[in-house]
Amino acid sequence: MDDDLDGFYAPIPDAVDRVVEVAGMMDVFAAQRLWRVEAMRQEALEDAHRHGRALTDVIERGVRLELAAALRITERAAGEMIARAAAMVQRYPAVLDSLGRARMTERHAEILVDLVDEAESELRGALVPQAIQLAEQHPVGSFRRMLRRLIDSVRSVTLAERHEAALGRRRMAVEPDEDTMAWLHVYLPGVEAQAIFGRTTAMAKVIVASEGETRTLDQVRVDVLCDLLIEGDTASLPADARGIRASVVVTVPALALLTAGEKERHDAGLAPATVEGVGPVPLARARELCGGDGGWMRVLTHPDSGAVLSVGRELYRPPAALARLVKWRGDRCMAPGCGMPASRCEIDHTLAWEDGGTTGLDNLAPICRGHHRVKHHGGWRVRQVPDSGGEIEWTSPSGREYTVKPERRYPMFHPSSAADAPF
Ligand SMILES: [Zn+2]
Repeated sequence: MDDDLDGFYAPIPDAVDRVVEVAGMMDVFAAQRLWRVEAMRQEALEDAHRHGRALTDVIERGVRLELAAALRITERAAGEMIARAAAMVQRYPAVLDSLGRARMTERHAEILVDLVDEAESELRGALVPQAIQLAEQHPVGSFRRMLRRLIDSVRSVTLAERHEAALGRRRMAVEPDEDTMAWLHVYLPGVEAQAIFGRTTAMAKVIVASEGETRTLDQVRVDVLCDLLIEGDTASLPADARGIRASVVVTVPALALLTAGEKERHDAGLAPATVEGVGPVPLARARELCGGDGGWMRVLTHPDSGAVLSVGRELYRPPAALARLVKWRGDRCMAPGCGMPASRCEIDHTLAWEDGGTTGLDNLAPICRGHHRVKHHGGWRVRQVPDSGGEIEWTSPSGREYTVKPERRYPMFHPSSAADAPF
């Protein structure tokens, strides 16, 4: 072997590399398929026009039938594929290019096109490059949230107006399924959805933990929902599972409570109010949630002078205010790509308490139960990036690193920069 080539050999691919490689090929093929589907549509249109047939919708319907038959998929699926192919080739060529280079997955490309298409057409040109950048960097779940937020920030129709319009479409539907089962669909405001899910989960957890209970959490959650909706009361539940109320975390920027309207606030570029697990909510709705008693837990983003940031090694369990702050900062499980709302996560000492880890903002993060187990028993190494405001770096058993950024930054005040702080 030639000594000059030392250090120039490619590393031997491991099992993860082999999966990543074939996933990349699938992205390349997905782009190819979209190209060819659009070429098929174009060809059919040109052919028809040459023969004097000009009924575009009839011809497109024919293309759909042909594609469905050839691929043995439903016409509905074929129609979606054709629409997406036309959109990518004609209007989003840069997205198709990125997919064709395996720099994003087909799922990223689909979400990108669907969401950017919701924005007014004159805004799309400016959105696309930023959206591509996000798609090439983030896992699907975070990408969707970040893109939605980006689009919300540039749209002229305010969130309040869109929410108002969507509210009018609230409805309930039953969809029959196999084996005498059915799905109950409810289209409702996200805040209430989160509250219903949170309350039934909290009640179900009490029941699942009781002596002799054999049902799963999923099963009990449904049984509780049925008891509440059909019987209207919880008398059939064990005593300690009754009377649990919904708890939803509402975050409102302190300044937003003072400024007059949604429009002014939007124009001033102020961060919207958000509800954990739901995302941005109209300010009027947030004010209403904060004003009532109920189970709404209000967190203002104003740095509270009394906030406990760390109790060092004094306490293993973080005080309630600190636990809330940790969950508020992360907003969801801090494992790569996980979307589990922080309220349903456990608070994890990034550096374990047994290993000298402290109970403080710089060593705590919300992690869901499943990822908690992976962290402790799965051979991963996890650390908080120093001075990053809560970024968590995960190193897999194969040695790959994934950094998860928290949803929010807790303002840190250094004496020199205090004068520049926004509050
Ligand atoms: Zn998780």
